[in-house]
Amino acid sequence: MYDVVVVGGGPSGATAAEDLARAGRKVAMLDKAGRIKPCGGAIPPRLIADFAIPDSQIVAKVNTARMISPTQRAVDIPIENGFVGMVDREHFDEFLRARAVEAGAERLTGTFLRIERGDTTAVVYRDKASGEERYLPTRLIVGADGARSNVARGEVPGGDKIPYVIAYHEIIKAPAKGGNYDPLRCDVIYDGAISPDFYGWVFPHGDQASVGMGTGIDGVDLKKATADLRAASGLSECETIRKEGAPIPLKPLDRWDNGRDVVLAGDAAGVVAPSSGEGIYYAMAGGRVAATAAQAALVSGRASDLKIARKLFMKEHKMVFRVLRTMQDAYYKSDERRERFVSLCHDIDVQRLTFEAYMNKKLVRARPMAHLRIGVKNVAHLLRLVPQTYA
Ligand SMILES: Cc1cc2nc3c(=O)[nH]c(=O)nc-3n(C[C@H](O)[C@H](O)[C@H](O)COP(=O)(O)OP(=O)(O)OC[C@H]3O[C@@H](n4cnc5c(N)ncnc54)[C@H](O)[C@@H]3O)c2cc1C
Repeated sequence: MYDVVVVGGGPSGATAAEDLARAGRKVAMLDKAGRIKPCGGAIPPRLIADFAIPDSQIVAKVNTARMISPTQRAVDIPIENGFVGMVDREHFDEFLRARAVEAGAERLTGTFLRIERGDTTAVVYRDKASGEERYLPTRLIVGADGARSNVARGEVPGGDKIPYVIAYHEIIKAPAKGGNYDPLRCDVIYDGAISPDFYGWVFPHGDQASVGMGTGIDGVDLKKATADLRAASGLSECETIRKEGAPIPLKPLDRWDNGRDVVLAGDAAGVVAPSSGEGIYYAMAGGRVAATAAQAALVSGRASDLKIARKLFMKEHKMVFRVLRTMQDAYYKSDERRERFVSLCHDIDVQRLTFEAYMNKKLVRARPMAHLRIGVKNVAHLLRLVPQTYA
């Protein structure tokens, strides 16, 4: 009998499994393996610090973010006091899984099929090596099986209705430095011709780069948009290593547990930051609070303690999610709004506050006047009371 079976060994599942194993619990971590998670791989310093990520996992340390508007105007935001780290998910996820095993979690490779409940509860999966169905009797289950989670769909109200954008990217061989490409700069492209409702990106990864875009609108040709983005960035001729796409959830579920024996984490719970689509840090934070909640429920015997996961998470991140959601709703609507958004990014206060929120996951309260000034500029832009300005 396991204390907890964690379904999924991505950033959320591996973190939950590691934390529970370190707390002395008998844990199984089930992952189907065999696929590299499509991902831009950008992570903030807060993640590196909170989850003790070694320097060897960071394939590039980005020092500038370039925002590009529909009319191709660019605003470079220097990343002060640190860097944005880039990880390759092929190695990063494996590192996290190995660390969970080192902490004492049992790793199983196979596909989650269902949860069965009789005298005991069991996770049923198909073992990859033998092809057989196997049973894992367990007291609790963490559903960390990513976007379009089968655990969420079957167990938690609303788990089958999470809204998504579909993100598509191409991993290419990075060009030599020079021209338009800088291996230490992330480009974020706000242009309706690339994405009518989200954004496009060029993220450096050492000797590779991720170029892609996302959209929630049916009928948009993601491959063509990415080809156009590569052409506009001077990257058409670079060798293409992989082409892949996946959904990014847009809204955290109202409930993350089933009131009985299941708690969700990461993409399975719909937890990705609006505006940016940033999910790795939030998946790991979600894995951690899911482990805390499971541990509390195992100790108390109260299923209601599983609610602690969402409560803890929202206490810390609700405000940032709210601000980012408002920003997305206000500025990702039209090219005119996108132009204004990039123009607003030129403001030093906006740069400092947004990057502080990204890097350290905190809205800085110490600078109320800056907040006020930004609020006023925001409203002025949305009401078109000011022209778009660039340096
Ligand atoms: C194109 C793209 C670019 C992105 N770029 C960034 C970025 O730059 N920075 C950022 O922070 N976030 C980014 N994200 C979001 C980020 O990738 C996710 O939010 C993050 O991976 C979520 O982690 P997770 O552990 O919850 O889920 P996942 O990483 O999806 O892990 C789920 C795990 O569950 C396993 N699994 C699934 N189904 C089953 C099953 N039936 N049985 C057994 N195992 C199963 C999978 O094998 C996988 O290992 C991007 C997403 C996309 C699609």
